[in-house]
Amino acid sequence: MPVTVTTVVDNCSECPHHHATTAMTPDPWDRGTDYWCKLTPDTPRREPGQAAVPYKLALGFIERASELKGRIPEWCPLRPKEPK
Ligand code: SF4
Repeated sequence: MPVTVTTVVDNCSECPHHHATTAMTPDPWDRGTDYWCKLTPDTPRREPGQAAVPYKLALGFIERASELKGRIPEWCPLRPKEPK
């Protein structure tokens, strides 16, 4: 029988709804990772040498894991709404 598991994540890379692609630059030694939100459809964007990604870019060009800490965009659809 399936169950629902709720997980708290610190950043998009830990979220089960992210899609990661390699982010390239003209410098072959300079590359990072783009994290896209699969819960947020967007006009497909194609990075050089990559398949088009039909999601909204959540975190762009992350080069080191230390850059991810606490990084979740304000528009995250799973972010609890602030009371008004
Ligand atoms: S924006 Fe929110 S739902 Fe989307 S990948 Fe990041 S944490 Fe997950």
